[in-house]
Order: sequence, then structure tokens, then C-alpha cells
Amino acid sequence: MRLVFLGPPGSGKGTQAKNLAEKLGLEHLSTGDILRAEIERGSEIGIKAKTFMDAGALVPDKLILEMIKDILRKRANGFIFDGFPRTAPQAEGLDELLRGMGIQLNAVLYLSVGDEVLISRLLGRYYCPKCGLDYNLNSRPPKKAGLCDNCGEGLRQRSDDTEEVIRRRLEVYHQQTKAVEDYYRQKGLLIEINGAEPPDSVAAAILEAVA
Ligand code: AMP
Repeated sequence: MRLVFLGPPGSGKGTQAKNLAEKLGLEHLSTGDILRAEIERGSEIGIKAKTFMDAGALVPDKLILEMIKDILRKRANGFIFDGFPRTAPQAEGLDELLRGMGIQLNAVLYLSVGDEVLISRLLGRYYCPKCGLDYNLNSRPPKKAGLCDNCGEGLRQRSDDTEEVIRRRLEVYHQQTKAVEDYYRQKGLLIEINGAEPPDSVAAAILEAVA
């Protein structure tokens, strides 16, 4: 199965995409995670992407599509894209790549959530840099403030989870990514899910939608 998860930052698409990928045995491909790993490695793509990411802006389409082309070659059988495509040219670029490989998307799941809920969720988001566990002060706080339950490491916030950058990311989302929703709606692939519900209800709705 080949799926795309769409939704604004903080809609829960990362968590839901990861869970669904595990349940269905698909590869979870988050372009944000892949880019952060490239930055960590100090690769050429990472160096180019970092300035855009720190400003809450989108990384240029050309750079993203080159990265996706390589990834798709290895993972054509079953995947969930999370955070890609983010612009209409990326959606068209993905279609072209898939066409070239003789495959297509099964569905595009769109998690809709209002801006104020998103801002509160994103400001509460923390992760453990050592073991990778995710926390949220609203829904999954650590037992001891600021420390990972699993390994005791100090928790961190993503460098782009500040209120100023979050507002910019939401603006970018509304300006550019809405076009991607419209693109897939027109193709009859878009399935809208209410992402403001508790995570378990959202997961159940997603499973039902792709069953
Ligand atoms: P995310 O982890 O999905 O919230 O992405 C974090 C940041 O990575 C975004 O604010 C962008 O700067 C960059 N990014 C991730 N995916 C894409 C994409 N498909 N196109 C352009 N920029 C991206």
C-alpha cells in the first residue's frame, strides 16, 4: 500500500503515520526526519536545508524531489509519506516519479485540526535526544519534569518549535500546502479525518479508512 499523510504541523500526522506503518508493515518516510538526519550527518543536503528549516520556511522543491527520487527507488513496495508532498510542484513531481515506476498512490489521508489547538500542541512537544521517545506536556508529559522516563536523559524541544517559528510554519502551510489538498481532492484520493479527536480515535478512523 502506498499512502500520503497530509496535515498541518502538530496535527499528529507523524505519530499516526508511524503507528500505521508499524501496523501494516510499511516504510514510514518522514521528510522532516530524513532532513534532520541529513543535518546531523553534516551532508550537503543537510547543510543546504538547515537555513530554510531554522527559519520555518520550506526547503526548495528541487532539493526535496532529488532526495525523494533516491528514497523511492529503494522503497517502492509499500510506504507512507509524512510531510511530503508539501507544494503543488512536489505533488506533480511525485506523480511523475510514480508514473515512471508504473505504480500509484492508494490514498491520501488528511488530518484536519484548527490553528489554536496546533500551536498549543507544538509548544508542548519534547523529545529525548538519546532514545528518541516523544513527549507532549498536554497529552504525554514525562514523569519527572524535563527528563526522559526511559533513560533519564534531559528532554529537548525541536529548534523550530518556538512560537514565532510555529506561526510562520502554519502560515507557510496555509499558503502552500492547501494546494496539495486541492490537488488530491480533485484526483479523488483525499480522505479527511478529524485530527482534533484523541489519538486512539484518530488511529481507529484512519484504519477504517484504509481497510
Ligand atoms: P516537519 O518535521 O515535517 O514539520 O518538517 C520540518 C521542516 O523540514 C519544515 O518546516 C521544512 O523546513 C522542512 N521540510 C520537511 N519536509 C519538507 C518538504 N516536503 N518540502 C519542503 N520542506 C520540507
